[in-house]
Amino acid sequence: MHPTSHSDPAADAGSPPPDDAALALYLHIPFCHVHCTYCSFNVYTRRERLIRPYMAALRREIALVAAGTSRAALSVYFGGGTPSLVPADEIRATLEACGRAFALTDKAEITLEVNPEAADLDLAGLRRAGVNRLSIGMQSAHESELKLYARLHTQSDVEHMVRRARAAGFDNLSLDLIYGAPRQTLRLWQESLRAALALEPDHLSFYSLTIDEGTTFERWLRSGRIPLPDPDLAADMYEWATDTLAAAGFEQYEISNWARPGKASRHNMQYWRCRPYLGFGAGAHGYAAGIRYATVLKPEDYIARIEAQSAPGPFPFSAAVDWVERIDRKTAMAELMIMGLRLTGEGVSYTDFARRFGISLDSVYGPAIAPLKAAGLLASDPDGRLRLTRRGRLLGNQVFMAFL
Ligand code: SF4
Repeated sequence: MHPTSHSDPAADAGSPPPDDAALALYLHIPFCHVHCTYCSFNVYTRRERLIRPYMAALRREIALVAAGTSRAALSVYFGGGTPSLVPADEIRATLEACGRAFALTDKAEITLEVNPEAADLDLAGLRRAGVNRLSIGMQSAHESELKLYARLHTQSDVEHMVRRARAAGFDNLSLDLIYGAPRQTLRLWQESLRAALALEPDHLSFYSLTIDEGTTFERWLRSGRIPLPDPDLAADMYEWATDTLAAAGFEQYEISNWARPGKASRHNMQYWRCRPYLGFGAGAHGYAAGIRYATVLKPEDYIARIEAQSAPGPFPFSAAVDWVERIDRKTAMAELMIMGLRLTGEGVSYTDFARRFGISLDSVYGPAIAPLKAAGLLASDPDGRLRLTRRGRLLGNQVFMAFL
């Protein structure tokens, strides 16, 4: 998701995104060995035979979408699914396709999500191909939790992956952790976070567990096999983590993300700043030219549609696009508030809001903001920015509702 930190005013949340603004590129890899019990992403098991044709389709889609635009791109993100199932030569060829289609900026952040059990992953090959950031799905340091989640790795796999990645030259490693999960105690969470810190990551992302429709967890919840997680306990976990990470020298830059200075995710910042990104692959989402869109979900359908496309469509669409929504001004304002407030360091700038929409933030949202300030959830700081307070970070959803 670089070094674009919250002190980078030139690329701020409220600046109007010009039509030629640099893009973030998201590439979805929808294949997994197993379906984790909590996961509701667009992923498919037992489809490994499709990986190579799928990657070829992805490269074709990139070329078709970019045809003739020569737009700059500041990041490429291989997300999933399990991108570490894709051989390094396919990743290299796909990054070459991105480089031919877009003007990748010098410091382009190129992230690959990695599952820790991928012991034979060619990390040196990926590094040579241009990948410069790995996001490692640690989730927990405890075997009991990893089993509950149906994860295939152990904590020693995570340690091994981090060691190998450092040896291969990666200086930007992120670890993902889950908190607020069923049966997770504060002590288990503290031990997982301490184990993560012991690996000296550059970045940490937390996932507050939600029980989504259609997941194994939802079934287990209904049958009584797992209890509903306790939101007060999840809040305690979050508060403890906030203090612990600050003491360890991490900067919180988003509700769920912490980084060493300069290691905030450039790719994900693009989402939170409501700046344009393109989504490639099955079930990918994009947002560009004031339009949000999503591609067809099934990899087989995706490959067939892209193979059948004979000429470029209007930017940013390919034949795989299945759903579009034009974002009107009112929605764009609300999204800027909700996404911008997620950026705990940067917040939303009053000046940039006015520049982007031609109207002051207070005249649109003053009445919504006043009670949230009175409740201690939002604060207007002397630097002309509106931010969530510490308490507001815990009650983010309540704050965001006020802008809908
Ligand atoms: S959590 Fe990750 S590895 Fe597990 S099913 Fe979802 S995308 Fe695949």
